[in-house]
Amino acid sequence: MSEYIKFSCERVTAGLDSFDALADLNAYRRKLLDLQLIGVDPNGVGFGNLSVRDGATGNFYITGSATGGIPELTIADCAKVVACDFEKNQVRYEGSALPSSESLTHAAIYESNAKAGAVIHCHDSKLWAAALNRVPTTSKAAEYGTPEMAHEIMQLLTRSDVPKIVVMAGHEGGILTFGKDLEEAFAVLICEGKEIYR
Ligand SMILES: [Zn+2]
Repeated sequence: MSEYIKFSCERVTAGLDSFDALADLNAYRRKLLDLQLIGVDPNGVGFGNLSVRDGATGNFYITGSATGGIPELTIADCAKVVACDFEKNQVRYEGSALPSSESLTHAAIYESNAKAGAVIHCHDSKLWAAALNRVPTTSKAAEYGTPEMAHEIMQLLTRSDVPKIVVMAGHEGGILTFGKDLEEAFAVLICEGKEIYR
């Protein structure tokens, strides 16, 4: 097994203009908070993150680290990832917030699928257990926020007809869904969890 390479990030600039999808991002964050699929765990650690691609570029806006408990995000709670190094587990970003340590996991989805415009990462132990190995599933050995996780996701998503959901076997409760926008990514999540959320 390879050595664990810690996530690191380098700020290009602290300035970041607001982006069109911020209102959408807050709307879907609200739904996810209400369903307790993102938020803060009993130990006070935030979980879950959302991202939106910047137009047709490879860049994306992602919720900042430790923003899980904030009901409504402003641009100061978001970071724009502008470069990724999967091997070094490193990103370059713009903004005053630190990008989520799971940024490379989001980047792997944007890299694999040009049509992916938004990604949701949430925690749901029921859906996780039900969907494990039934939908594209990363191995137990791949921990979240590692180069291994990014590589596995890129391999799983090389086929264009795969479902827009990934279960992370090595990250308990960890689910990823994606779509052309947040509306679709959220719909995929609700559709997969229809027995659970109804
Ligand atoms: Zn997670």
